[in-house]
Amino acid sequence: MKNSQAKHSYYLKSMGIDVWLKRKGSIVQSQLAVDSDDTVEFNSNLTDWSGLQNQVESCNRCSLAKSRTQAVFGNGNKQADWMLIGEAPGHHEDLEGQPFVGQAGQLLTEMIRALGLEREQVYIANILKCRPPKNRDPKKEEIEQCYEYLQKQVDFVQPQMILAVGRIAAQTLLKTDAPLAKLRNKEHQFSGVPMVVVYHPAYLLRSLIEKRKAWQDLQFALQLLRNNKKTI
Ligand code: URA
Repeated sequence: MKNSQAKHSYYLKSMGIDVWLKRKGSIVQSQLAVDSDDTVEFNSNLTDWSGLQNQVESCNRCSLAKSRTQAVFGNGNKQADWMLIGEAPGHHEDLEGQPFVGQAGQLLTEMIRALGLEREQVYIANILKCRPPKNRDPKKEEIEQCYEYLQKQVDFVQPQMILAVGRIAAQTLLKTDAPLAKLRNKEHQFSGVPMVVVYHPAYLLRSLIEKRKAWQDLQFALQLLRNNKKTI
């Protein structure tokens, strides 16, 4: 769904005004799928980005489909060396349809710059594609339903390095309950790709004292990628 359309319908809905959509084109197809009682099955044979994006945008596999303004697929360079994986869209992301656009997003952009890169050079996605109400933590069943989308995104991008951004992303990708402090500053793997865990920018905004550690983690990841490139 286009950003302006999503915002428009969001504001109308908030005012209690019914939103009517033209029955033509993919936007309506997506909306029809969301409103339908039939669950859209994941097509694991997908080999193209637009097919995957369509699936995500019309997904109704969990109850977040009913409360979202729109799904947030992910964005960036589809051939990126770096892939950043966050937790889930928040209020601003849900309205704009893009990941990390709020205040935390601005800090994430700074973190990317600390790697010597611009945002357009990396690929950014989330564990969940839809906003949990009131930004609560994702539920296990929501993660399960959404996981295959992220797995496909990783398969498509084939990054050289993944940054798990924040505790939820790290614990989900590593299938662990260990606290973030125990997971940072180490090399992990996800789907055969080297992975480093970094603090979530929303957390860093609240806890400036940890910023230094966050920058160390970014340098650690950068060094790791450089070393891996040398040994190839
Ligand atoms: N936090 C996340 O983890 N992802 C976003 O897209 C925005 C905020």
